[in-house]
Amino acid sequence: LASRDFHPEDTVISIKGVDIGGKELVVMGGPCAVESAAQIDEIAGLVKAAGGQVLRGGAFKPRTGPYSFQGTGVEGLIMMAEAGQKHNLLTITEVMTPEYVDICAEYADILQVGTRNMQNFDLLRKLGECGKPVLLKRGFSATYDELLNAAEYILAGGNPNVMLCERGIRTFESYTRNTLDLSAIPVLQSLSHLPVISDPSHGTGRRELVEPMTKASVAAGANGLIIEMHTDPDNSMTGDGVQSLFPDQFANLLQDLEKLAPIV
Ligand code: PEP
Ligand code: MN
Repeated sequence: LASRDFHPEDTVISIKGVDIGGKELVVMGGPCAVESAAQIDEIAGLVKAAGGQVLRGGAFKPRTGPYSFQGTGVEGLIMMAEAGQKHNLLTITEVMTPEYVDICAEYADILQVGTRNMQNFDLLRKLGECGKPVLLKRGFSATYDELLNAAEYILAGGNPNVMLCERGIRTFESYTRNTLDLSAIPVLQSLSHLPVISDPSHGTGRRELVEPMTKASVAAGANGLIIEMHTDPDNSMTGDGVQSLFPDQFANLLQDLEKLAPIV
């Protein structure tokens, strides 16, 4: 079902007037984690003012260590939904287990599967029935074929609204956190009709690389971007402050993108 042989035309996912996978570029921006109502409200206002269409923020965080901050949970979902409504933005949040799919689907417009869960098949099956669009991140050691097979689980479950996300893979290079595989964008678009979103934040792990890799992703044909932005990145509650843009950098980047591709 994910293959272009089966479905020659591009899939366009329409959510409340925003088309993902069409001619326009969609930008999702926001913090790694929803930290407080005031934080997500302020950042939502900045994402909207910069021209973004989707507010990102994790309420359930997949942390490498069990003692790290694990997210604000259902309270975070509620805070983000309120901020999204107030600022007229769609929302995207990560869901980590099948048990939490229903509650995340109640509060968010798009459900994100993180890199660590790309092959959590019970989660993928549940997302096939959830009725909400899904952004499926490529596992950091997954091939294109494995990513497309993971998407197949969601599609086969009856959910046609899947976006593929390149978020960097693990290589021998240690200067960057991951290696953003730009080739994934045209390759996935040739193999599949599903929209392809690039995540230059996790793909590099370094703030100064987010701007050039965002532009490179657009030049490579990405249908959209998911970018971390924080008002106080040095004090963010996850380690992802180092890759989060400051609000002015985010706004300037989106202005530059208008010269490369029209924003919805
Ligand atoms: C995130 O989007 O904050 C995140 C945890 O992403 P990934 O699954 O790509 O590491
Ligand atoms: Mn993050």
